[in-house]
Formats: sequence, structure tokens, C-alpha cells
Amino acid sequence: MICLGIEGTAHTFGVAIVDENKNILADLRDGYTNEKGGIIPQDAAKHHHNVADKLINDALKQAKITFRDIDLISFSRSPGLAPCLLVVKEKAKYLALEHKKNVIGVNHCIAHLSSGLFWTKTRDPIYIFTSGANTQIIALEGNRFRIFGETLDIGLGNALDKFGRGIGLGFPSGPKIEELSEKGKYIQLPYTVKGMDLAFSGIVTEAINKHKKGASKEDLCYSMQETCFAMLAEVVERALAHTQKRECVVIGGVAANRRLLEMLNIMCNERKARFFAVPLKYAGDNAVNIAWQGILEFKRGRKNEIKTLDINPNERVDDVDVFWT
Ligand code: ATP
Repeated sequence: MICLGIEGTAHTFGVAIVDENKNILADLRDGYTNEKGGIIPQDAAKHHHNVADKLINDALKQAKITFRDIDLISFSRSPGLAPCLLVVKEKAKYLALEHKKNVIGVNHCIAHLSSGLFWTKTRDPIYIFTSGANTQIIALEGNRFRIFGETLDIGLGNALDKFGRGIGLGFPSGPKIEELSEKGKYIQLPYTVKGMDLAFSGIVTEAINKHKKGASKEDLCYSMQETCFAMLAEVVERALAHTQKRECVVIGGVAANRRLLEMLNIMCNERKARFFAVPLKYAGDNAVNIAWQGILEFKRGRKNEIKTLDINPNERVDDVDVFWT
């Protein structure tokens, strides 16, 4: 089976072609950026619309195949920015009708979780899902993912971006914060772990206020990282203790951060748990995840959904029945 996957929940528009033996025949992405601030949903949707055809054609060329060879189209139907999800759904629908292909929509976050199993040797881990909009500590229990802890306000990536915007770093700020943090030292910021949940908004506000009062960007970047990552590591450690699981895997764009990986790795070593991270290139949004999730679900019984295609901007991982494992 060969699947063409289309990702476009937020800033990244991606097209990938993957076969059922895990061969990645094509993987292309084009990211919307906004130097002045965060994502403007309508602009991101326009970006996706503008690049879609070219990326799809280039992906076919990269894979050295034509639409005749594609068995399935899989697209990110949830969760994400509604205008972006709509563009992706319409493109998938159009292609499926035009080329008479099977098409299904998959949950973008679940596709991230499956990528942990695709890329690493982990089998039944605690998933540390930390992207722009999402920060969740998740494990599979029976046929549902259970969220053991999560952010109560904004995702860690968005928190870093919001802080970055507040001190003039542009979007996305994560990589710039990582770079500046290397020259910084610690300034105290609020540490907000509430039970198993996390909150980042107050930390962002406090860090921006400290910048207005003269604290250096370097010190604040370092302190944001140390504080937020320590909070995340604390909750993951407790999830490991509670579930007695022996493995962790980190996924999502913030997993590109070397200091975060280092802190999680140290914590896992101390608990004798194995720590995995998906390769950097696949930690953030990409369509390989979406194509692979499509293959998993279609092979386990999902049928062509051309007549019922929809989007769901708010679907959580624990809303979905896991029938493909
Ligand atoms: P979601 O997947 O939740 O819809 P998203 O599409 O914005 O959100 P990803 O592409 O997985 O998420 O990740 C993007 C986020 O990762 C951004 O917030 C960005 O700042 C952050 N990020 C990227 N690189 C780094 C880094 N080196 N350090 C910290 N954060 C980073």
C-alpha cells in the first residue's frame, strides 16, 4: 500500500508518500512564517492553499511515481486551526475525486504519537507530546490514550513563542531561545505545576515583565528553558512512577531542543527508564506521520470516507478509539 499524506494543521504544509514497509518515498514541507508575531490563521491557510499543488507534484516526482500508484490519501483532519484544516481537507477531497482514490482523515496528535513507535524501538512508552499548541503526558491504556498531565493554558511551544514575541525574537522563537540560552544564567521565574498539570502563561508574563525591567534576553531565555523543562520533567517522572512503565518517548516540535532532551534523559536514567526521541527532522509537524497513520488505520479496517469527510479543530487524543495497535 502506498499512501500520500497531507499535513496542514498549523504553520507547516507537508506532503509525504510512504509505503506500508515504512519506506519514505517523498517528504516535502513548506512553512508559513511571520517575522512580526505569531500565526495568523487565515494567512497560514492562504499559504497552504498557495503551495499545495506544487508540493504534491514535487512529492510525486521525488517518489518517481504517478497518482496511479497511490492507494490511499490521508490528511490531518484534527486538531488545529480551522481555516488550515479546511484547506487540507478540500485538497485531499479534490485529489481523491479526481484520481478515484480512497481518502481518510486522521488525528494529527495521534499521528505524532504513532511516529514515536515508527522511529524508535519503544513499544509501550509514556509519550511526552510537546509541540506548539500541545503539551501532554500520555500513555495507552486499553484502547484509549489516557492523558496523565497536560497544560492548563497554552502549549509549551506557544509559551516559548509568546515569550519570544514579547522580547522581540520573531516567530517561531524556540530555536532562537535555545541559542540565546547558551549565554544566560538563572533568574527566578514562577514554577507552576498543579497536581499533574502545568501552566505556562504566568511564567511568560513574568519573564516579559522582567525583560521590561532590564533583565537580559540571554538570562531570560535560559531561565524560561530551565523552569518550563523542569516542570515537564517532574510531571513525566510522576507519570512513570504511577504507570510503572519503563520507557518514555518525546515528540512534537519542542523536542528539537537539546536542553530539554538532556533533562528528560537524565531523569529517565535516574529512574532506570529508557528514553527515546524521534529524529529531529520528524519531531515537528510533517506529513510522514500523517501518511503512516493513514496506513495503520486503513489496513485495520477504516474505509474510504469521501462522502463524510470533515474536520475537527478540537479533537483530543483521548477522544479517539485506538483500534490499529
Ligand atoms: P501543534 O502540532 O500542537 O499543532 P505546532 O504545529 O505549532 O503545534 P510543531 O511544529 O510540532 O507544533 O512545533 C513547533 C513549536 O516548536 C514552535 O512553538 C517552536 O517554537 C518550537 N520549537 C522548534 N524548535 C525549538 C527549539 N529548538 N527549542 C524549543 N522549541 C522549539
